[in-house]
Amino acid sequence: MQDYLVKTTLYDGMVRAYASVTTNMVEEARRRQDTWATPSAALGRTLTITSMMGAMLKGEDSLTVKVEGSGPIGAIIVDANAHGDVRGYVIHPHVDFPSNEYGKLDVRAAVGTEGTLSIVKDLGLKDYFTGQVPIVSGEISEDFTYYFATSEQTPSAVGAGVLVDTDYTIKAAGGFIVQLMPGATEEVVTKLEQKLENFPPISSLIEAGNSPEEILQQLFDDEAIEVLEKMDVQYKCKCSKERMKNAVKGLGSEEITKMIEEDHGAEATCHFCNEVYHLTEDELRALL
Ligand code: ZN
Repeated sequence: MQDYLVKTTLYDGMVRAYASVTTNMVEEARRRQDTWATPSAALGRTLTITSMMGAMLKGEDSLTVKVEGSGPIGAIIVDANAHGDVRGYVIHPHVDFPSNEYGKLDVRAAVGTEGTLSIVKDLGLKDYFTGQVPIVSGEISEDFTYYFATSEQTPSAVGAGVLVDTDYTIKAAGGFIVQLMPGATEEVVTKLEQKLENFPPISSLIEAGNSPEEILQQLFDDEAIEVLEKMDVQYKCKCSKERMKNAVKGLGSEEITKMIEEDHGAEATCHFCNEVYHLTEDELRALL
């Protein structure tokens, strides 16, 4: 089934909420990056949240998220656009840990509890928004919650979960972002806090077959939910042979001549999606 997210408002516009199922997206990332279980969860949570943040953008805007923690997976780098395309990788995909005391994948141990979460939004016409906060948890969702409160002054609840199967494939993944808009009343805030406190792990809801709409319905009970937008989300890279050629061109003629004479071609791998591009001697000559 195609992954998608829904964007909604409720309580007369006092609350804005997103929910998504991203099982295929995270599985595609796992397959391409060959991530082991804990890095899959860390990357998957980041991909899920970043794709919902992409849905907050407009037109050709895009954003890049970097989680640079002190843990052994190194940095997590993810970018997304307003059309539901997201891609990302972790520096060290082949590390793993015993489960934590709750029997869950120990994402915090993988990411680390010190470091920074930074976000760069490319808003077109050379207009950039950048925000950076310290890592406060290492569990990813709490770090984004802190980011929204601090950098964007938007009180939010962020949840993202990834369930990894025994063969390392992704069984279920998804998340939500609930945000308070200006003018939200104390009553609404209290109601939401109570609900979120007892909310089951999102990955188990998705494993049980719940759609994004059903997840929101469970979050907000009988409250009328107005779906503003439904958008497909997917792991999609923007690399291409053309881009690779341009990158090689930028190395200069001396370097290209060396590739022709010594290597009889060139090969480059995209960091994001692990796609390998080959350039033949003739293709290299055409760049000179
Ligand atoms: Zn790529």
